[in-house]
Amino acid sequence: MDALPNSTAARDVAYLLHPYTNARAHERDGPIVIAKGEGIHLWDDAGNKYIEAMSGLWSVGLGFSEKRLVEAAYKQLQILPYSHTFTHKAHEPSVELAEMLVKMTPDGLDRVHFTNSGSEANDTVVKMVWFYNNAIGRPEKKKFISRLNGYHGITIASGSLTGLPANHRGFDLPLPQMKHVTTPHHYRFAEEGETEEEFSTRLAEELEAKILEEGPETVAAFIGEPVIGAGGVLVPPAGYWPKVQAVCRKYDVLVVADEVINGFGRTGKMFACETYDIQPDVLVLSKQITSSYQPLAAIVFSDKIYQGIADGSEALGTFGHGFTTSGHPVATAVGVENIKIIQERDLVSNAAKVGDVMRGELAKYADHPLVGEVRGVGLIAACELVADKATKAKFDPVGKVGMSVFKAGHEHGVILRATGDSVCFCPPLITTEEQAVDIVARFGKALEDVRKALG
Ligand code: PLP
Repeated sequence: MDALPNSTAARDVAYLLHPYTNARAHERDGPIVIAKGEGIHLWDDAGNKYIEAMSGLWSVGLGFSEKRLVEAAYKQLQILPYSHTFTHKAHEPSVELAEMLVKMTPDGLDRVHFTNSGSEANDTVVKMVWFYNNAIGRPEKKKFISRLNGYHGITIASGSLTGLPANHRGFDLPLPQMKHVTTPHHYRFAEEGETEEEFSTRLAEELEAKILEEGPETVAAFIGEPVIGAGGVLVPPAGYWPKVQAVCRKYDVLVVADEVINGFGRTGKMFACETYDIQPDVLVLSKQITSSYQPLAAIVFSDKIYQGIADGSEALGTFGHGFTTSGHPVATAVGVENIKIIQERDLVSNAAKVGDVMRGELAKYADHPLVGEVRGVGLIAACELVADKATKAKFDPVGKVGMSVFKAGHEHGVILRATGDSVCFCPPLITTEEQAVDIVARFGKALEDVRKALG
């Protein structure tokens, strides 16, 4: 790395351990220092401009310069910069956001509990479900089933729910209570000639077999992202959610929909539960809830679970869980304003409309020699790159070509993301049709560069 002494880059390498980064590679290569943002664009400290086609981490729905969010934070900081919600304390912004969420989420979700991140939220869901089952007299019912390639965070419990090897390797995870079943990805995991419906039926049968193998009296919940995000934007096969949900209901297994990425318009509906006909017992939200201007996550859950937890807290004297900043007034005030803006500007319809354009442009690459599958829904998509289109053979090693396209994307002024060799697209909800066309065109140039380099 040839950064100037005392530059941000040099001090970064000297002092920080970065999340999700190879620390030694970072010492060698240094960071890209992001200096400012506006609309869907970012600039690095060398003045290079990028389209942020991943909304940061799938999260900056309103883009990087929404003044109303800044004003909402500033206003709340002046009125009440901090107050907690432990031991019967309340404040207006957290109550307003909770009420808003109960009213706008699918029927049957009646209560809200706030955390600061998606990982904390999913860790909290595990503890809430354990507490609930203890409270209602079923202490055996504790296991969670999730899917391989699903992503639910990185704390001890949420990291165990995550079905990606990189989140387990070196961390002594997963916990023994967490079990994983097959990824609902037709392109990769369907058998020869199997239709999407048949594949979904097989996966529902697999889930049922897993529940029976573990013992239904020990299985508490099934958790999944309606559309898998970090695992490579995996859109569920036709019929998948109704079928797995029916199995869960049969064995009194709670359904947890992790909409940390999907929520607030990403799939072209306000919630992906609407897109995929899911009636969850628990809905987990974060990221676009504040467009990530503030750290916040929300667990929205059924009255049935609430009543069990309330009885348990009465019996034990407290629900002994919560964070110093749970339901932080500034974060929840920003959340309220953020959702108002999404509704007022009808950004959910915009995501559906612009998403159609983006996916339409991407579909033009389906015949490209490196492209195995183009997939997506609403304003989230991926292009899976393969070594051999006919056999679907992966590159060896997996991820190197995806990373090359990601890096070439920077040269063409677009920030994408490579999950293995799947190149992901998740631009802000405010993206216009012209910008969506531009994003895909820049990707196309990056892909061509890499194809040429591969020879
Ligand atoms: N759940 C899903 C579906 C996610 O995509 C993520 C993060 O990407 C998380 C949970 C974890 O959220 P956080 O990174 O805020 O802990």
